Amino acid sequence: MAGVPGVGKTTVLQELEAVAREKKVSLKIVNFGDVMNQLFKKHGKNIHRDHMRRQDINLQTRVQQQAAQKIHSISSKSTLVVDTHMFVKTVDGIWPGTPKRVLEALDPDLIVLIEAGPEEVAKRRTADTTRERERNTLEDAKADLEWSRYMASVNAVLAGVPIQIVQNREGYHRQAAEDLLRIIESLS
Ligand code: ATP
Ligand code: AMP
Ligand code: MG
Repeated sequence: MAGVPGVGKTTVLQELEAVAREKKVSLKIVNFGDVMNQLFKKHGKNIHRDHMRRQDINLQTRVQQQAAQKIHSISSKSTLVVDTHMFVKTVDGIWPGTPKRVLEALDPDLIVLIEAGPEEVAKRRTADTTRERERNTLEDAKADLEWSRYMASVNAVLAGVPIQIVQNREGYHRQAAEDLLRIIESLS
């Protein structure tokens, strides 16, 4: 599951956890950034999650690949949902969140893009003071939403899997989680 920074992926997935529990659907949710952050710590870099994308690109690439392997090795009988990004804005440029080797390790059955209107994304980025999301103008949000779809199409072609778009409307994250659960249930 992917979406631009601040669109509400983690919020929707927290809600999904609750909805799935109520409906007795077994799910495992993993945050790719959490796994990378733990690996950075192992490499001696105890850094904030929003500082990882400012690190040397070779180190990010290594950690990204290790995170993908770690997630690959999770043995789970239930559906595995990965909270991640189609691309990351690094100092070196727009960098793929799932380059070929990462995509192969994750081996998704489906790509879900969480979306919201650019105005909503910009507003959520600005309002959320718990994170350092530096790209918080309306223009930034519009451009990011476009890039997200471009990157998702490449992934869909390479992995040969469909894309579903789930809207996370203002105040309706529960609805988004329910939509997501329906999609997951229709997979299995
Ligand atoms: P990142 O990629 O940076 O981790 P994210 O996509 O996981 O971002 P969240 O951290 O879940 O985004 O949400 C960003 C902000 O938007 C939070 O303050 C959250 O409370 C708010 N938010 C999420 N979904 C909604 C919604 N449907 N309506 C209103 N606010 C929302
Ligand atoms: P998040 O909390 O989802 O924003 O993740 C925190 C950070 O983890 C992001 O800003 C990126 O630096 C990193 N990250 C998450 N997913 C990926 C990915 N697929 N590839 C590379 N970096 C990622
Ligand atoms: Mg998040």
